[in-house]
Amino acid sequence: MICDLLKENWTQIDAFAKDKMVVFLGIAPIEEHGRHLPIGVDVFETQRWIASAAELVDKKFPDIFIGILPVIPLGYANMGLFPGNIHVSRRLIYETIRQTVSAVAKWGVSNIIVVSAHADPFHSTAVEQACSDVNTVLGHPVAIAPMGSIFSAEEKGLPHKTAPEITAQEHRFPNDFHAGWLETSCMMEIAPETVQACYAERPDICLSGRDMVNPSKVAQAIANEGHIGAPRFANRALGSLLNADSALQLCEAACRFITRTDYEPYEKNPLYNIPGFQVNIQ
Ligand SMILES: [Zn+2]
Repeated sequence: MICDLLKENWTQIDAFAKDKMVVFLGIAPIEEHGRHLPIGVDVFETQRWIASAAELVDKKFPDIFIGILPVIPLGYANMGLFPGNIHVSRRLIYETIRQTVSAVAKWGVSNIIVVSAHADPFHSTAVEQACSDVNTVLGHPVAIAPMGSIFSAEEKGLPHKTAPEITAQEHRFPNDFHAGWLETSCMMEIAPETVQACYAERPDICLSGRDMVNPSKVAQAIANEGHIGAPRFANRALGSLLNADSALQLCEAACRFITRTDYEPYEKNPLYNIPGFQVNIQ
């Protein structure tokens, strides 16, 4: 069974068998996504991926109770000074997740899946670190944040079903980091009414992965536009494939965590242990 936890009262939550309960919690920033996409892209994607993954988990484990919490609209990013951006510190992301997950764990829940459609590794690391620290303090795993690993599924050798259409597009237009064909396609399926027709006229803005860690280079490249990539190659069919694949991967990570079977590869993104990525909590 799947339910929106905001609609439950405490006695109903109290009555759930906690060993059979899974809670999904999202955290994603409000931020500019070019001239053609709304500032809520990452929140909408996070909601969709959680809802679709919850349905898949529900099919696999019909006796489990799946509670969905709202997406916390906070994120760390470096996307310039556009109106619409609400970026917060990595320390705040870390604390928000650490305290929220700790609170849910106090209900007796030990399967908390934290999800973010925001792929910035500095954001992912803060979320993963918070889950890891809660798990350490409690002495047993209660939370996992698998998206940073899912975004690097290829590199980490994790199962994913990237459709040939997506792979071909990735070869033609790589480094589609922000509000390019990837996110525009996803939004064409999730909320097509929010995608402006001018997506087809946006210029291609190309930056390498190395450029992405240089804030002044990013700011210069995206000035007056806001996206990084090639939005003009977006289409709804690609969006359906991308959203479905994200949900499948999220379901895989959640099921492994629920059954405590080889879930560790989903705990940390590949950059987690590089000096400077973890939040300094001293
Ligand atoms: Zn985004």
